[in-house]
Amino acid sequence: MQGLMQEQQLLISMLLKHAERHHSDTEIVSRRVEGDIHRYGYADMARRARKLANALDRAGLAEGDRVASIAWNGYRHMELYFGVSGSGRVMHTINPRMHPRQITWVINHAEDRVVCFDATFLPIVQAVHANCPTVRHWVLLCDADALPPDSGVPGLISYEAWIGGETDTYNWPQLDEHAAAGLCYTSGTTGDPKGALYSHRSTILHAYAGALPDAIGLGAADAMLPVVPMFHVNAWGLPYVAALVGCKVVFPGPAMDGKSLYELMEAEKVTFAAGVPTIWQMLLTHLQDNNLKFSTLQRTIVGGSALPAAMQRTFEDEFGVAAIHAWGMTETSPLGSVARLKNRQLDLPEEEKRRILNTQGRAIFGIDMKIVDDDGNEQPWDGKAFGDLWVRGPWIASAYFKSDQNPLKTDQDGLSWFPTGDVATIDPDGFMHITDRSKDVIKSGGEWISSIDIENVAMSHRGVAMAACIGMPHPKWGERPVVAVVRKPDADVTREQILALYSDKLAKWQIPDDVVFVEEIPLGATGKMQKRKLREQLKDYSLPDLQDL
Ligand code: ADP
Repeated sequence: MQGLMQEQQLLISMLLKHAERHHSDTEIVSRRVEGDIHRYGYADMARRARKLANALDRAGLAEGDRVASIAWNGYRHMELYFGVSGSGRVMHTINPRMHPRQITWVINHAEDRVVCFDATFLPIVQAVHANCPTVRHWVLLCDADALPPDSGVPGLISYEAWIGGETDTYNWPQLDEHAAAGLCYTSGTTGDPKGALYSHRSTILHAYAGALPDAIGLGAADAMLPVVPMFHVNAWGLPYVAALVGCKVVFPGPAMDGKSLYELMEAEKVTFAAGVPTIWQMLLTHLQDNNLKFSTLQRTIVGGSALPAAMQRTFEDEFGVAAIHAWGMTETSPLGSVARLKNRQLDLPEEEKRRILNTQGRAIFGIDMKIVDDDGNEQPWDGKAFGDLWVRGPWIASAYFKSDQNPLKTDQDGLSWFPTGDVATIDPDGFMHITDRSKDVIKSGGEWISSIDIENVAMSHRGVAMAACIGMPHPKWGERPVVAVVRKPDADVTREQILALYSDKLAKWQIPDDVVFVEEIPLGATGKMQKRKLREQLKDYSLPDLQDL
């Protein structure tokens, strides 16, 4: 027997219509590339998204055609998100931190028809346009009179001129909810980038789940500042969640330094922000150096790489801000798990609560996860057993765009799972703790050592700006951990001081054999430490005298 509820496809245009009707004058504030502050309401955003949809029709783009962006977080980028996907095209967000060679590769692989970009990225477009034959229009996200006279990009148009003459009425098409809506390539640290292709349905379900109190937890009373870029997994889906709940949105544009972020947060009374640990480090340093406090910020979601326990404590103790740890990846849209306490954990000792909140958290509704050994056998949720983390759910990738490779694994019950490439433990309450990327795991004497745990301890020293732990070949143990440390400016922290931190925190055999000080740790396009490069950098390094373990 069938239920008797209305049949309605879950479409991105629904979010736009809802936000326009119910939150028409709720503000979307953007720091523009031009340096000034732009503000308007959801109704203006929706109106301009319709103009954009008309421009795409006029340009002859068919349903499913890809429109790319190379842009900072801002209102025009938001219009693209809704106008492109809402009208049935696919929004392809390009990470400008990729090498131009890779950018050319993804534009050609995606067969983008239109590329919209911020002025900051004109040099990238100048470098790649001649090798991108599928692109019919290069659109500079700028005012009509701001187009550079000799850009060297044939047919370059300004976004405002492009959409300016269009009408602001548009009938959003009734698409199949399974139709593609967004395309985002992984950064390709191993091999060519791979395209995760999100659907309308996956995007809406992800936004619903993401908005829940134990996930991102947003409401119409919030003012959200996504520091996480819109070119990186759709800014963790935050633009969609924003339209769903109708919160105020504050876009930082290109100004991601601590001072600019802080000033924007204060001026716009931001209550919630989201970003990767490296950004927060800069922001916190700015506050500490200048003796500042947040007056409205309540919560931050931190993910993309492990949130150092020391940073979480600083947020909480010095600034009264909850730093909420979350985990995800491009292929998981990205929200997979968020660390939030259960009711019965509220009475636990403070230190225990902090330990739980520093895990990558519990799977949010819609996501199923498990850890398995090398043969695919499920490992117990005892907080000790390590395993490869597998996930499944309606916003988890089933395949890559235009790729024959099947990324999925099938378990004994015939269910398909996405192997994340992360190694984790899960405790009896379901709190998942990532110990490593599988390729970064350190195996010493047959036992796994968590490089993330080692980095976390090093980061707890005030003089340490960044720490990366890698395994070094060892004749007896296979590998031994060594931690590379970047000192904070003017800090004189020593090897011995760092090693001393470990004695009461890790078992003796887990303590790194050495600390090497480096000028910087190589970061990839998404701000993650590139340990492969670090290993190359340290190829002439050899372990100190072999120790008796
Ligand atoms: P890419 O794979 O392109 O580098 P992603 O953003 O998809 O970029 O990276 C996903 C990976 O980032 C995860 O598989 C995991 O290794 C790491 N990651 C994300 N969030 C966390 C977190 N909270 N703690 C530890 N690692 C994380």
